[in-house]
Amino acid sequence: MKRTPMEAVILSDSHIKLVRAINDDYSAKTGFKRRAFIKTYGCQMNAHDSAKLESMLSDMGYERSEDEKNADLVIYNTCCVRERAEEKVFGKLGLLKAYKSNKPDMMIALCGCMVQQNAILDKTLKIHKHIDIIFGTFNIRRFPQLLFSRIETGGRVVDVWDEHDEIDEPVILNASFKASVNIMYGCDNFCSYCIVPYVRGHERSRRADDILDETRKLAANGAKEISLLGQNVNSYRSGDTNFAALIRMINDVDGVERIRFITSHPKDLSDELIEAMRDCKKVCRHIHLPAQSGSDKVLRDMRRGYTRERYLGLLAKLRAAMPDIDVTTDIIVGFPGETERDFQDTLNLVEEARYSGAFTFIYSKRAGTPAANMPNQIDEKTAKDRFNRLLAAIYPIALELNQRSLGRALMVLAEGKGANGLLTGRSEGNMTVHIDADERYIGSIIPVKITACKTFYLVGEIA
Ligand code: SF4
Repeated sequence: MKRTPMEAVILSDSHIKLVRAINDDYSAKTGFKRRAFIKTYGCQMNAHDSAKLESMLSDMGYERSEDEKNADLVIYNTCCVRERAEEKVFGKLGLLKAYKSNKPDMMIALCGCMVQQNAILDKTLKIHKHIDIIFGTFNIRRFPQLLFSRIETGGRVVDVWDEHDEIDEPVILNASFKASVNIMYGCDNFCSYCIVPYVRGHERSRRADDILDETRKLAANGAKEISLLGQNVNSYRSGDTNFAALIRMINDVDGVERIRFITSHPKDLSDELIEAMRDCKKVCRHIHLPAQSGSDKVLRDMRRGYTRERYLGLLAKLRAAMPDIDVTTDIIVGFPGETERDFQDTLNLVEEARYSGAFTFIYSKRAGTPAANMPNQIDEKTAKDRFNRLLAAIYPIALELNQRSLGRALMVLAEGKGANGLLTGRSEGNMTVHIDADERYIGSIIPVKITACKTFYLVGEIA
């Protein structure tokens, strides 16, 4: 059922207080706080949605649980980009049924992209009757009301919206030194293999003033690195403000020391944006620019809206403007109709583009997308073989690029302590750096002299 965003705001804020009162009462009687567990599948947008849920749960008096078995509330925030992820969730839901039979007051909520698909929603409603709350990607702010309704009525609550045009998502202001800000929602590109536009709706940009306000508050609360999030940030537009103008504005926010953004679409990467990146010293010298394929024929079938030549031209412009920029990418192999020659074009692209890292995927059929019905689907053996050859092409280049850092000092944001006892952080190029230093540096951007390089990480000491 579609509702206005304003109604959702009023309802949610009052319901946060109502749930809080119930939980405080429980704590006073038992001496324990109720605990909530969130499992997130999928992309950074989902991770950010989970952070919003976590922030609301904390306001409602829940403490975080790392263990779903003993949690009072379990939330699965799902992804539907790959069918395998859906299968995993259905498997997990079966397990939760067993946990719930030992702990009948456990509540289970299912949200995210999976339930935006009618067939999946129907299947879930029919088979998994032990799920208490189901909601979609458009009404996260209503979660406190849905939860309150479940507590009060004891009945299952289902609230999945088809779409709404305005943006009214909860913002998180109790950030640490790293924070994400959604600048837009949805996608209008309809790449032929991708389900996102069907489950996240059409493209909607937030008002620049709202983004700036949120960023200023985050910075005042200690956020040094801001990541701007959207399915296609390069096509951001609100009134006269495009993405290039937006990053110039954010560059001027006091307290922000680093700016990142994801995801960039090559088709919308303008000269104006490259100039803004060059001029804004807080913008990290890194871009994640998904190529997906090096074959013009495959790119056309994927409906990506650019050619190999245009893509390589963009990399040349980026490197001319910022010679030290690191480029990472996404590549899919085994797309329907991909010939050996198409694949060779992808290998050649990798050689030419020289990526410092890449997310690589074997094409997986996604029901409901045009590519799922294309002829000449590639058999598993061929796709796996191409995948392995792709990795063999990417790794040595990434290692070679990493080796340029040996002996140099890189500025690294120290983020936490790793299992190896070293601090772990990220360079401007978004490379993981293990630092031989103590915990007092966590949350600081520090100069690190690189002493060792591997394909996927660097090791160093404070310079
Ligand atoms: S740009 Fe293409 S791949 Fe990215 S979310 Fe939109 S449709 Fe999906």
